[in-house]
Amino acid sequence: MPRPQKVRKILCPPAMSGFSPYGIPATDSEPIIMTFEEFESIKLVNYEKMPQEEAALLMQISRPTFTRIYNRALNIIGIAFVEARSIQIEGGNCEFEREWFRCTRCFKLIEGLENHSKCTDCPHFEKNELTRLNPDIKDRIA
Ligand SMILES: [Zn+2]
Repeated sequence: MPRPQKVRKILCPPAMSGFSPYGIPATDSEPIIMTFEEFESIKLVNYEKMPQEEAALLMQISRPTFTRIYNRALNIIGIAFVEARSIQIEGGNCEFEREWFRCTRCFKLIEGLENHSKCTDCPHFEKNELTRLNPDIKDRIA
């Protein structure tokens, strides 16, 4: 049995569900899956310009683990760019600081359990039009 992985802490999910190439019909290629923690590693290092040591601390994982996640994320971006494939961002072995939901109509991110029954941008919302984004961590160790 493989050693259980430590859950990676993530502040919030990405604004979008994924990324797709321009000028290519969406149906032409199989999307590549990027996990939330792989997305987070790119955000911390390439967007927030954080040293990898610091990013690892923030995600509560070791520096080598962070580097593996980050390298996988770069690899996914490389494949998507070269093969003109879309990236679908979902799942992973991570835990958000709060509960997050996404409106299935307007794709707006909604933060917190107390707000999960409404999307203020969709006037005729229904509760079941929100998708919970937090990965299920019940079978993993903290
Ligand atoms: Zn909405």
